[in-house]
Amino acid sequence: MALDLLDILVLVGLVLGSAYFFREKLFGKSDKTAITGLGKNAAKAGKTRNIIERMQQSDKNVMWFYGSQTGTAEDYASRLSKEAGARFGLKSMTGDLEEYDFENLDEVPEDTVLAFVLATYGEGEPTDNAVEFYEFITGDEPMFSKGESVEEKPLRNLKYIAFGLGNNTYEHYNSMVRRVDAALQKLGATRIGTAGEGDDGAGTMEEDFLSWKETMWEAYKNDVGLEEREAVYEPAFQIKEREDLTPESDSVYLGEPNSFHLEGNAKGLPFNAHNPFIAPIDSSKELFTTKDRNCLHMEINLKGSNLSYTTGDHVAVWPTNPGREVLRLLTVLGIAEKKDTVINVSPADSTAKVPFPTPTTYDAILRYHIEICAPVSRQFLAQLAPFAPSDEAKAKIELLGSDKDEFHKQVANQYFNIAQTLEAVAPGQIWKNIPFSLILEGLTKIQPRYYSISSSSHVQKDVVAITAVVESITVPGGTHVLKGVTTNYLLALKQKQHGEEDPEPNGLNYNLTGPRNRYDGVHVPVHIRHSNFKLPTDPTKPIIMIGPGTGVAPFRAFVQERAALAQEGQEVGKTILFFGCRKESEDFLYADEWKQYQEALGDNFKLITAFSRDGPKKVYVQHRLEEHAAEVDELLKKGAYFYVCGDAAHMAREVNTALGRIVAEQRGLTIQQGDEIVKRLRSSNLYQEDVW
Ligand code: FAD
Repeated sequence: MALDLLDILVLVGLVLGSAYFFREKLFGKSDKTAITGLGKNAAKAGKTRNIIERMQQSDKNVMWFYGSQTGTAEDYASRLSKEAGARFGLKSMTGDLEEYDFENLDEVPEDTVLAFVLATYGEGEPTDNAVEFYEFITGDEPMFSKGESVEEKPLRNLKYIAFGLGNNTYEHYNSMVRRVDAALQKLGATRIGTAGEGDDGAGTMEEDFLSWKETMWEAYKNDVGLEEREAVYEPAFQIKEREDLTPESDSVYLGEPNSFHLEGNAKGLPFNAHNPFIAPIDSSKELFTTKDRNCLHMEINLKGSNLSYTTGDHVAVWPTNPGREVLRLLTVLGIAEKKDTVINVSPADSTAKVPFPTPTTYDAILRYHIEICAPVSRQFLAQLAPFAPSDEAKAKIELLGSDKDEFHKQVANQYFNIAQTLEAVAPGQIWKNIPFSLILEGLTKIQPRYYSISSSSHVQKDVVAITAVVESITVPGGTHVLKGVTTNYLLALKQKQHGEEDPEPNGLNYNLTGPRNRYDGVHVPVHIRHSNFKLPTDPTKPIIMIGPGTGVAPFRAFVQERAALAQEGQEVGKTILFFGCRKESEDFLYADEWKQYQEALGDNFKLITAFSRDGPKKVYVQHRLEEHAAEVDELLKKGAYFYVCGDAAHMAREVNTALGRIVAEQRGLTIQQGDEIVKRLRSSNLYQEDVW
């Protein structure tokens, strides 16, 4: 049915009307910071996408752009921006790449510096918020305002800074910063200092960043003639206590992520990375429980949310910090007694973003919005020194902030969080002089944790399963056991579902009923992230899956799906799963289920196991793969899809190497030629990884 003009006008009116409605809902009339990280919605919030205009409006001449997926790049950009102001008096701001257009980079004034702090994601891809920028700047002929060609060096007046966040266990290590840097150079721009690279794979990200930034500041000082001054702390946020409000007041956020949740109408917005669905957990169990490890299986119901998934996607769980650690931090900061005091947090400068909606309470901020359990940054300790409770504590924290080795020995290797560090530096003392704004500036926004969905959408369209090992790390010689935030939260939910009145795994006492008891029953906030890790559309294609430990999660979904298709009478291709764990009797995930799938799939399903601690010699999945070299290569020649899921640091790399070797040996080629074939499998999407 064709639309006539009137229909179109009515539709346009509806769209504009609802856009206005959402803007009001999201940002409120008085609270423009109700939701952060909305990317393109910056325009809705009335902000221009023109870099030059935005900087001029805010009276800034340095912009630290970030391409961030998990928040680290954003954190680094924000730290650099603050340091630029505090140490050098620069007028500096941060910028989310997806909030800007880049056509007028050729018109950026000469006294302006742009910085790019860029994480590389997955297989050398840009982070979600950097896709458009990346495609534009690395395109063959980016069109700038003045219309100059690449040969004319349109960005010859642009000065920039570059730092990348990557992981050397991935093939395309730091490819984002490398490619963007090369593109900017080609366009004639001048870099200040070197293009820094941080390596998460080697566990040196923070130290790489710290040492790079000192050389960058030196270069900046020399290039631009900057004067360094005594660093002055200027709070990025104003904290105002609201005596007129109590936690019972309707307008006070107690951990709700946005105004829709506050008003009990979370469905007013689509559920996504900015608006979690508070999902009921249908069932939960422990797949194995040993003295030092346990693994959860949970079935989370998406019915009524409009969320959908396809096999191979990820579910993101929004964590809550454990009460024990919230209280520890409140206490060490001397604000435990006013934990429920209502406060407004507003940016001291129009370019700063408050990472949660306000008015809220100290307790809600630390419990729901900030990573308070994460590793501590050495730079942050140095910033806390002026606020130490005694001269002795000041000297000690200064040392930790400046001496890498001492910091590693006393803080990082102990796996302390910030409150534990402050307790250890000054036992029994209260750090009451630390401005609360500094805590918000020094700690990062809490991040949802991803889980590879372990159920098939063909089998259970509305219910996603997760398979998660509960993180628990006994620090060698240390004083405490590190407990993963999200997985222990999930464990507490599982215990509640199984009838424990007030579950407190390891004394962590999570607030399981959530803000205003809205998570009561057994609920968890989630959203879905779609991935490219997918079964072939043709079920007759052979597949080979390598999934040790919880890396088996998406493969349970793959096999579940193929078994269902076979039961429905469809032809299904060869389906081989390599699974590895410590002991057959201990942590063999889904041991009984595989038998059922075997019945449905018959000879087309083969499970090959590697139990690393059952025999005299350690056997891993890559060894088993080599033992089945002929069969594996035969299937690859028939167009098999090859999948790897789980540990990025070791397993995925070793499997990649093993496959290159297998191909070479089976086909009488050199190792180099074997590796080339594996590379080609990757680029044609026949080799897919879902690793973390
Ligand atoms: P966190 O609190 O985030 O701690 C995680 C780790 O960080 C700790 O083990 C420790 O090494 C370090 N750490 C934390 N705090 C400190 C500190 N103070 N000092 C030093 N080190 C510290 N996991 C699964 O079990 N199953 C899956 O199917 C799965 N799929 C994933 C898919 C993707 C795409 C990704 C990115 C990850 C996946 N993960 C999966 C991992 C998962 O997202 C979580 O990282 C994991 O469950 C730990 O979360 P947590 O909040 O319990 O631990």
